[in-house]
Amino acid sequence: MSLTITSSRLTDLHCSRCGSIYNPLIRQTLSDCCQAPLLCQYVLEPGSVRKEDLLTRAKSLWRYEALLPVIQPENQISLGEGYTPILSLKRLADHNDLRHLSVKDEGLNPTGSFKARGLCMAISKAKENGEQACIIPTAGNAGVAMAAYCARAGLEAVVVMPRHTPDAFKEECIGYNAQLIEVDGLINDCAAKVQALNQNGTYFDVSTLKEPYRLEGKKTMGFEIAEQLNWQLPDVIMYPTGGGTGLIGIWKAFHEMKALGWLSKQQPLPRMVAVQAENCAPIVDTYLGKQANSKYYVGKPTLANGLAVPRPIGEPLMLNVLRESNGTAIAVSENEMLEGLSELARYEGIFAAPEGGAIWVATKKLLRQGWIQPHEHVLLLNTGSGQKYLDNIKGKWHRK
Ligand SMILES: *Cc1c(COP(=O)(O)O)cnc(C)c1O
Ligand SMILES: [Zn+2]
Repeated sequence: MSLTITSSRLTDLHCSRCGSIYNPLIRQTLSDCCQAPLLCQYVLEPGSVRKEDLLTRAKSLWRYEALLPVIQPENQISLGEGYTPILSLKRLADHNDLRHLSVKDEGLNPTGSFKARGLCMAISKAKENGEQACIIPTAGNAGVAMAAYCARAGLEAVVVMPRHTPDAFKEECIGYNAQLIEVDGLINDCAAKVQALNQNGTYFDVSTLKEPYRLEGKKTMGFEIAEQLNWQLPDVIMYPTGGGTGLIGIWKAFHEMKALGWLSKQQPLPRMVAVQAENCAPIVDTYLGKQANSKYYVGKPTLANGLAVPRPIGEPLMLNVLRESNGTAIAVSENEMLEGLSELARYEGIFAAPEGGAIWVATKKLLRQGWIQPHEHVLLLNTGSGQKYLDNIKGKWHRK
């Protein structure tokens, strides 16, 4: 038995609001005490996991298995996710008088987006905890990723998606043998449908931050950024923000690396920027003080489907990251997103999702405003490939 246990250093889950402790070996959703997201906790004394030991590890996010929640290696359901490249964007940088611009290209993940990181972890834990069937409300990419990992794990999958989502997302879910349910509205309407379908708890509900493990998959971007940049973090990270798991997860990873001694306690952490679409910018509005919170925010669809999350449950955690990191929040228009997308393609050969277009054009805006200085290292997180968004992009390229 002991031979099959990984080096996972997971101890328990704790409530993100009050710290109450929960058991990771049974199904968990939001905390009973505060109805808040649960966070995984590990034993992290300095030297307990050494960064030198990473050199021999798998070239996927499982290289960090000690800091991931899956206990038994046979439950690691993998399609080769993570360990995506960080590419220097020299031509774009030169054209915009930036010294150091790079992109972590998450479009190269299985199923074409960084959602693979989170869903591989949630589905692996679902298997480990003996779940039979999973359900998810999604703007597109998360549903596709869940369907793929459920297929690989042999679990039943139900995906609830807005009707206006491009066909490529729907077809791929069907291909993986998921049950696809279409809903009129945005992801919050899909979430209501999921709740109605799951009243008797048949399904493990994999909604963003309503279970603790997608966050753990997404945090591996933080480990990779540090490791791939030789432990020299960028000054600014541009993140296209919907539910916020990546933003919260990367920040969690930075703190875990400090606790482990992978990063020095004094090392300044990057300023984190939440980029949203003007059509659905609840975090920007709250951050700028236009509303107390997003409880009643009404959003519209956007070409960047992943950003259409009008009332994210992780809002307080996201706002903490923005404040603690001296970051900011900024919205871009649909047309600006297309401009960003077109420039990434034309100057660098990267076919980004509209979410990726949004962060590049937001970088240009922050540079013009003086919030980003020309000498700073800016890292773009291109969260997905443009390939599934053809219905949104067709005929809208900005050409020179
Ligand atoms: C889901 C998604 C996002 C937003 O990610 P969150 O973790 O929900 O903030 C950004 N880009 C793409 C391509 C997505 O699929
Ligand atoms: Zn609590």
